[in-house]
Amino acid sequence: MNSEEIKQLKTLLGTPKAIVIIPHKNPDGDAIGSTLGLYHYLNLKGHHCKVIAPNDYPDFLKWMPEESSILKYESDTEACDGLIQHAELIFTLDFNSLGRIGDMENVVSEAQAVKIMIDHHQQPDDYAQFMYSDVTMSSTCEMVYNFIDMLNDTDAINADIATCLYAGIMTDTGSFRFPSTTSATHKIIGQLIEKGANNAEIHNQIFDTNSYDRLQLLGRALTNLKVLPEYRTAYISLSQEELNTFNFKKGDTEGFVNYGLSLKGIIFAAIFIENHQDNIIKISLRSKGNFSVNEFSRAHFNGGGHTNAAGGKSELNLKDTIDKFISILPLYKQDLNL
Ligand code: 5GP
Ligand code: MN
Repeated sequence: MNSEEIKQLKTLLGTPKAIVIIPHKNPDGDAIGSTLGLYHYLNLKGHHCKVIAPNDYPDFLKWMPEESSILKYESDTEACDGLIQHAELIFTLDFNSLGRIGDMENVVSEAQAVKIMIDHHQQPDDYAQFMYSDVTMSSTCEMVYNFIDMLNDTDAINADIATCLYAGIMTDTGSFRFPSTTSATHKIIGQLIEKGANNAEIHNQIFDTNSYDRLQLLGRALTNLKVLPEYRTAYISLSQEELNTFNFKKGDTEGFVNYGLSLKGIIFAAIFIENHQDNIIKISLRSKGNFSVNEFSRAHFNGGGHTNAAGGKSELNLKDTIDKFISILPLYKQDLNL
């Protein structure tokens, strides 16, 4: 974002506005943290804000300050349509293509509001009048901090804003260990703690609220883990039946894919999760080093994301999806063996 755009945004935000803030479908910690963090900031500045999520999200995110004010498009469509149609500004956070907001796509794309994208994924679409897009950023939450900084307003950051932004930076960096974590990230984290983010408590809320069923499901996932040493690849599958056996709830499989990547020598990991309701196999991909799971997912599984973390989906059944995955690997043999 250049200085002229920042000036224009300062003017736009200089008088109270009706604002809608939107995360992607199946929002994660960064999506909920960034939208709620921005929500607290803009409300503090006198705007009338609403966060509208396309659908529901896991319980381990349902503790952030004013999380209960988030509207869900899937269950409150009419009210959400009205808010979107009458909004003066729409912020879209943690995604860069309107296809990522599911059934909200049409109403948002047709809305009259000025659109502002804040996002760190690759290859952004061109739907927003203001684009703050930076693929080097650890998280959208880090960018929301920078956005407030661009407005010369970090003094306004209170404990609620700090808590939400801390949560999203923590989850998107794998607790500050992914290569996207920079010294700037740590400096911002330091600021957020100073402003009232309680690091131990936030960690506890997100990571130490497992159900017994979830740990048993993890046990099954690890039993199902397969390794393809010639491609330095590991994958996990979970059928709908297995999910049902352990009373699967949204969010229960979060992070499972990383176990494959934790194996010595493995640089590419996948998880395939059967979803009967949507009639798809949801895929999560992770890598280490230069192997781009974003490119892989775009090319073969109708998805995208970042170089080292991406998602996608398949309309084949679980077995055929895995067979397709294995059949593609020889194309990448060189990249996977560097
Ligand atoms: P996850 O595997 O945790 O669902 O997602 C990993 C990363 O890929 C996240 O940044 C997420 O936003 C992105 N991602 C997940 N699924 C999709 C998808 O279907 N399409 C695109 N473009 N990105 C996705
Ligand atoms: Mn993110």
